[in-house]
Amino acid sequence: MKARGAAQVRDTRGGFWLALIVYLLFGIADAMLIPDVARYTIMARFAVAILALTTMEIVVFVRASSKWSDLTCAVTVVVAYLGWLIPAMQTDDFETFKFYMYFGTIFMMSANLFFNLFFRLSVATSAAILVIFFTSLNYIPELEYHQNFVVILFYLSCFVFTSYVNWKLNEERYNVFLNALEAEHQHSEAEKRGAELERLSNTDYLTGVENRRAVDKRLRDYWNEWQTEGKAFAAILVDVDFFKKYNDFYGHQSGDRCLILVASVLNDTLKPLNASVGRYGGEEFIVLSRVTGRDQVMALCEIVRSAVEGLHLVHDQRRDGQAVVTVSVGASYTRPQSGPKLERIINEADRALYSAKANGRNCIRLFNPNDPLTSDDNENIAATLRMAVKNNLVHLVYQPIQNMRTGRVEAVESLMRLKMIDGTPLSPAQFIPVAERTGAILDLGLWAIRQACTEVLATGVAPMASVNVSAIQLKSRGFALAVSTILEETGVSGSQLAFEITEGIDMEGQSDVIRCITDLQALGIRIWLDDFGTGFAGLSWLRLFPFDTVKIDRSFLQDARRPAGRAMLEDIIRLIRNRGLKILIEGLETADHVELMHELGIELGQGYYLGRPAPIDEVKIKAFPRLASVSGL
Ligand code: C2E
Ligand code: CA
Ligand code: CA
Repeated sequence: MKARGAAQVRDTRGGFWLALIVYLLFGIADAMLIPDVARYTIMARFAVAILALTTMEIVVFVRASSKWSDLTCAVTVVVAYLGWLIPAMQTDDFETFKFYMYFGTIFMMSANLFFNLFFRLSVATSAAILVIFFTSLNYIPELEYHQNFVVILFYLSCFVFTSYVNWKLNEERYNVFLNALEAEHQHSEAEKRGAELERLSNTDYLTGVENRRAVDKRLRDYWNEWQTEGKAFAAILVDVDFFKKYNDFYGHQSGDRCLILVASVLNDTLKPLNASVGRYGGEEFIVLSRVTGRDQVMALCEIVRSAVEGLHLVHDQRRDGQAVVTVSVGASYTRPQSGPKLERIINEADRALYSAKANGRNCIRLFNPNDPLTSDDNENIAATLRMAVKNNLVHLVYQPIQNMRTGRVEAVESLMRLKMIDGTPLSPAQFIPVAERTGAILDLGLWAIRQACTEVLATGVAPMASVNVSAIQLKSRGFALAVSTILEETGVSGSQLAFEITEGIDMEGQSDVIRCITDLQALGIRIWLDDFGTGFAGLSWLRLFPFDTVKIDRSFLQDARRPAGRAMLEDIIRLIRNRGLKILIEGLETADHVELMHELGIELGQGYYLGRPAPIDEVKIKAFPRLASVSGL
C-alpha cells in the first residue's frame, strides 16, 4: 500500500506541473484579451505557480501520503482561480471579460476530472469555485439579467456534470482498486502455497530433513558440478545400529522419536558445515557435502558418529556392550576414477557402510578403492554367483568331524567352493559376503543343502552332514518349507542333517530367526552354534536356543598353548557343558591338539590333522578310511 501511495504522489506531481504550466501559458491569453490588467493576472499566476510547486515538491520530498498531494492540488485550484479572477475582474474591457469568465469552469473541471482527487475533496473544491463565482457576480454589476442566467447555468451544469463524472470515475477507480487488491492478495497467497508445497514435497514427513526426492536431486546437481567443474563431494551413508530391535522393544512411537532426534542432531551439527542431511530410507540417512579430500570426509564421518552417540539415547536391547543408540557410517567421495556413473559413488558408500556394520557398528568406514576386493571384483563375483550352479562353477567339499573317544567319523561339514569362469578359485571369505549382500546365498544355500543330502546322506557316505547356513537364509520366508521339500525329494531324514549357524549372526529380526529355527527343529534338523566365542552374542544365543552342539572357534585352541589361554578354553567348555550341550572343537592341526582333546574330554573334533576338506570322490576313497569299517560300507 505504501508503494501505491508513493506512485500516486509521483503521478499527481506530474499532472500538477503540467496544469501549472498551462496556467502560466494562459497569461498570454490574459495579455491579449484583458491587456489592461494582464500585468496583475500574470504576476498572480506566477506567484501561485511558484508557491504551489514549492509546496508540492516538499510533499514529495518528505514522502507525505497522497492525501497531502491531493490537498495541495485542491487548494492550488481554488487559489489559482482566485489569483486569476480577482485581478481580471478589474478590467475595463468588460465586453471581453464577460466571455472570458466562462473559462473559470476549467478550474472546476481540473478539480473534478483532471486530478485524481478523492470524491469529497474534488466536489468541495469545485463547490468552492462555484461559491467564489457567485460571490464575484455581486461585484460585476454590468452583467444583464439574461447574461447572468446563462453564465450561472453554465457554471452550475458544469459543476453537476463534472461532479457526476467524477463520482462515476471514483466508483470505477475504487472497484479497480479493490480488484487489484484482491488480485494482489491472491497472488501472494498462491506464492505462499506454492512455496509451502515445494517445501513439503522435498521434506521427509517424519523427521523434517530432506526426503529421498530432494536427496536424489541434490545428488544429481552435485554430480553434474563434479563432471563439469570438477567440484568434489562426499556421500556419507548413516545407518542407525540395531534399529529394528529398538523399534520392537520400545515401540514404534519411540522408534519414530529416535529417528527424529537422530535427524535433528545431524541437521543441527551439519548445517553450519554446509552439509545437507536427508533420509534415505527406513533408518538410513545420507549426508552430502562438498569436500576437499579424504581427511575432510573422515572428519565429517566422525562428527556424524559422535553427534549421535552424544545424544545418549538409551538402547539397552543391544547386546554388544553398548547401551545407547549409535550409527554406523560408510562414505565415499568423488575421485578421478569415479567413472561416469553417479550410482557408483552411492554403491561405494553402501559398501563402506556394510563394512562398518560388519566391523562391530558405531564406527566409520571410507570406501577404499585399493582394497583387494574392489568394486569391480565384487561385481565379477556377483555375476559369477548368479550363474554358478548352472555352469558348474560351484561344488562342495567335505571335512570329517570325528568322535574323539571312538575315533569314528560321525559327520562331515560341507564347505562351499567357487571358481571363476577362467578357473580361478575363490575362497568363501571372498564370495560368501558378496552372496549374502546380493541375496545369491538364498539359492546357493538351498543348493548346498540339496547337494549334501544327495552326495553324502542319500548315498550313505557319512551318517550325518552339517551345512553352514547364513542368517539371511534363516530370515528368508519359506526357508524351512524349502528344506523339508529337499528332505522329501532326496529321501533323507532330517535327523541326519545339521545346520551350522555362526554366532556373529545379526541379532536384529530375531523373532523371524527363532520361528525358522523352531520349524527346522521340528523337521528333526540339529542346530549347531558355529565359531563360538568370536562374536558378541554367543552367550545370549546359548540362552535363547536349544542348540545341539557348540563349535568352539579354533582361535581358542591356538591360545591354549599359554596357561591363560588354556584356562579360558576350560572355562568355556565348563560353561557349555553346564548347559548340557555337546562340544566340538575346530582347527585341530597337530597331534598335541588331539592330545589336548583327550585331556579335556572333548567328544567331537575337526581339523586339518584329522582330515582336510575334500571333494566327494576323495572323501569316499581315502579321506575317511575308518568310515567304511564303522558304517559297514
Ligand atoms: P567355518 O564354518 O568356520 O568353516 C571352517 C573353516 O575352517 C573352513 O574354511 C575350513 O576349511 C577351515 N578349517 C578346517 N580345519 C582347519 C584347520 O585345522 N585349521 C585351519 N586353519 N582351518 C581349518 P573355509 O572352507 O574357507 O570356509 C570359511 C567360512 O566360509 C566357513 O567358516 C563358513 O563360515 C563359510 N562357508 C563355507 N561354506 C559355506 C556355505 O556353504 N554356506 C555358508 N553360508 N557359509 C559357508
Ligand atoms: Ca562351519
Ligand atoms: Ca567354524
